[in-house]
Amino acid sequence: MTKRIVILPGDGIGPEIIMQAVMVLHEIGDKFDHGFIIDEQMIGEVALETENCSLPDKTIEKCKQADAVLLGAVGGDPNINRWADHPTGDRPEKGLLKIRKELNLFSNLRPAILYPELSQACPLKESIVGDSMDIMIVRELTSGIYFGKKSRFTDEENDEYSYATDEMFYSKQEIRRILKTGFEIAMKRNKNVVVVDKANVLETSKLWREITTEVAKDFPNIKYSHMYVDNAAMQLVVNPKQFDVIITTNMFGDILSDEASMITGSIGMLPSASLGETKLGLYEPSHGSAPDIAGEDIANPIATILSVAMMCRYSFDMEKEAQAIETAVKNVLAEGYRTKDIFTEGCKLVGTTEMGEAICERIINNE
Ligand code: NAD
Repeated sequence: MTKRIVILPGDGIGPEIIMQAVMVLHEIGDKFDHGFIIDEQMIGEVALETENCSLPDKTIEKCKQADAVLLGAVGGDPNINRWADHPTGDRPEKGLLKIRKELNLFSNLRPAILYPELSQACPLKESIVGDSMDIMIVRELTSGIYFGKKSRFTDEENDEYSYATDEMFYSKQEIRRILKTGFEIAMKRNKNVVVVDKANVLETSKLWREITTEVAKDFPNIKYSHMYVDNAAMQLVVNPKQFDVIITTNMFGDILSDEASMITGSIGMLPSASLGETKLGLYEPSHGSAPDIAGEDIANPIATILSVAMMCRYSFDMEKEAQAIETAVKNVLAEGYRTKDIFTEGCKLVGTTEMGEAICERIINNE
């Protein structure tokens, strides 16, 4: 099978981690006889420097024509506001928001997986989380309170009555499509869905519940329930293993996925996928460009490599290939390979390149 993949290395550690992910793609292509055509384009600070735009038109066009997009990270040193005086107000991060919008990527998938080998990095007691955990959070990405109408009202007579509003908006179509994505993902996992809302106070949440009941009829094999977001926040720390797939709104997903990610230890381990209505998806690590460690060959490439596994699974329907990558990652962790961010005494400290090479070697040699 031939697939066209646009890579957007971006800034900071982006090029280093993308290089390892591309090596993994080549190994998967060789092993399973696929042709992966890689096309590198620009985004972020590097695009602003050369094209004076964080997301050049050419990048958008190439991404729209591709089967999948793999992104490193965008952004410079967070302590230096380098682009404050840019005439159009452009900034590296704007490129990322714009590409998600241009590709209409309305669902964000964030797996929170605790590997047994990294269980000591988990802040929860072993009696709660055991030595492993595997939750998929499906977050609505292009609507809700983050995109609703915002306003400010100034009361001239008494400033204490001045106010601001953020509108929480959800159409039935927006709710239905994200629920469908989440239920379809649950079909490939343990078939257990929890839809998180605040239906005791929010009208949008009541609508989410109505649409959930409708969508669930098309998935009779899936066990589903509703949970209030305040309870979900508690349940994630007292009994995280009860969850398989969580589907939720933009803001609740933003907060809960960060909470869940901390259970897994390092941010360098967390992949993500942003999907729309077609198979075209954008895959990226959950972390940023880490300018503090850029160019030192110490960044953890695993989040980006696991993002390639998600690409195989969700954009290409290549389950065997996805599992080959995930198994290779588990193998190198079991053998004690650790980049600096996940290093503990007694393990083998490796750099970005050596970690990538070790994973590639396991892909080649595993059955
Ligand atoms: P960051 O995620 O880049 O870094 C936070 C900390 O985690 C740093 O100490 C960094 O060294 C470490 N870290 C991150 N990824 C790592 C990896 N793979 N291996 C080992 N350690 C890793 O967040 P930040 O420092 O707040 O932001 C830096 C820049 O990245 C900013 O310009 C920010 O806007 C941007 N950013 C981009 C994205 C994205 O592209 N999706 C996301 C978040 C932040």
